[in-house]
Amino acid sequence: MTLELTAPTPTRPGHGDAFTDHMVTMAWNPLDGWHDRRVGPLAALPLHPATIGLHYAQVIFEGLKAHRQADGSVAVFRPDRNATRFRASARRLEMPELPEEAFLSAVDDLVALDQHLLSDDPELSIYLRPLMFATEPNLMLRPSGEYLFLLMAFVAGGFFGADAFAPVSVLIGRTHTRAVPGGTGDVKCAANYGPSFVAQRLAQEAGCQQVVWLDAIERRWVEEMGGMNMFFVRAGESGPEVFTPALTGTLLPGVTRDSLLTLAAQLGYPVSEERISVDQWRQDCVDGRITEVFACGTAAVVTPVGRVHDGDDHWLIGDGTAGPVTTALRKALVDVQHGLAPAPRGWLRPIPAR
Ligand SMILES: *Cc1c(COP(=O)(O)O)cnc(C)c1O
Repeated sequence: MTLELTAPTPTRPGHGDAFTDHMVTMAWNPLDGWHDRRVGPLAALPLHPATIGLHYAQVIFEGLKAHRQADGSVAVFRPDRNATRFRASARRLEMPELPEEAFLSAVDDLVALDQHLLSDDPELSIYLRPLMFATEPNLMLRPSGEYLFLLMAFVAGGFFGADAFAPVSVLIGRTHTRAVPGGTGDVKCAANYGPSFVAQRLAQEAGCQQVVWLDAIERRWVEEMGGMNMFFVRAGESGPEVFTPALTGTLLPGVTRDSLLTLAAQLGYPVSEERISVDQWRQDCVDGRITEVFACGTAAVVTPVGRVHDGDDHWLIGDGTAGPVTTALRKALVDVQHGLAPAPRGWLRPIPAR
């Protein structure tokens, strides 16, 4: 009889539990502007019960990642894009804009301090979470006169658990909307996410992992999936074509979405931004015209969609497994992020070792 020895399973971090040791904070008021910048240990915040952000949701955030490079250093993926989007979110919420240099130097300092917590495991990354919220203690219904910017981080494993590339099943969201024209769907404000949890639970109760958001007016155009953008692969005349729903103002303009549009074109796929209805999605899957669908985002990277549920109806995408274009695009993105393939100019911000 032989005894099989299995290596002890290392405990892998989930998404958002393995916090790093430090945080960067900075305060704003009309008199001093941005001031009181501190780099210190991650610690609890003293908050007055009337803190405006808690009551009226003047709260915005970002999400970006630092990756271990082939040469052992660490680099942050396109942080300038997140700095720009953070400013757009601030404007939408009547909050002060944080200058891009201040955003980037906070990222540099935190990653430099905590990068030793990132092992060489290529599945792991440091997820950076910039946050800004209204701190004035006052319950008048008006914008706060004081704000706190904060940057924290965690070591991230796969968003969808151990097998990061397993296809997910999705439920078409027929009962709730994420974003409305004139609303806040195109910025990353905290108030967009709490109301989405109920739709997410309904998807899980239907045996799916994620909800697909439709437009709020006609309830037929596909917008996003959970907190991710979506891509479709269609069989074209001369090979696969890649398209993603156009940014109508109710979609979040993802950095991953933008990166994949560039990388897909570099790989030679015709790319476009279009509208796609649920009916067409279903019909094109049945006809074999749509061959692959995937979701993308900083947290989810590239996640294939295998099956769609819409009420009592359901259909497979391709044979329900990750397709070749999805696989190639995921590899192209991950290779660029890890310095294994040449990155388009300005996409990687190297962090000096300390
Ligand atoms: C953050 C987010 C995305 C993805 O954006 P990335 O910049 O690629 O991380 C997509 N949709 C929603 C609703 C989001 O909040």
